[in-house]
Amino acid sequence: MFSLVDEEPLMKVFGLFGEEAIEIAKILMETTETTDDDIATKTEIRLNDIRKILYKLYSYSLIGLRRTRDKNTGWFIFHWRLQPDQLEGFILNKKRRMIEKFETRLEYEKNHDFYYCFTAGCRQIPFEEAMEVLFQCPVCEKSLIHFDNDQIIDAITKKIDQIQKELIE
Ligand SMILES: [Zn+2]
Repeated sequence: MFSLVDEEPLMKVFGLFGEEAIEIAKILMETTETTDDDIATKTEIRLNDIRKILYKLYSYSLIGLRRTRDKNTGWFIFHWRLQPDQLEGFILNKKRRMIEKFETRLEYEKNHDFYYCFTAGCRQIPFEEAMEVLFQCPVCEKSLIHFDNDQIIDAITKKIDQIQKELIE
């Protein structure tokens, strides 16, 4: 059944959790269910790290969990499986959060007047703060000149548009 998993979005999403998460994804793809011990024997990843990654993925519902009890030891055995139907929701959420972040930044850019020393590595300073430092850059001490942030506003607006288009695709 896991031949139905579209590998590209899966690797993209699991990649956000690191290289080791990709290795784990590959093992989960080979089978319907697997245990942390099984993953440990098939990879070079430490069991503790495997568990940390699995729980992280589980907290985002990207993988599912079934528990059984070992008849001999009485301990729980955790069986993990991919939940490919959760991938889309995860990506959508991530994009929505990105839009929120960009919109906050956009508001900030729109609502502030910026001053800048035009030295590489220095930052643009909002008007209120520029007044306090008497329009002299606190880092390089050059004069602060009004900075037109229209291009920044434009770039952020385009970025938001682009993600919004991806959302309705
Ligand atoms: Zn400066």
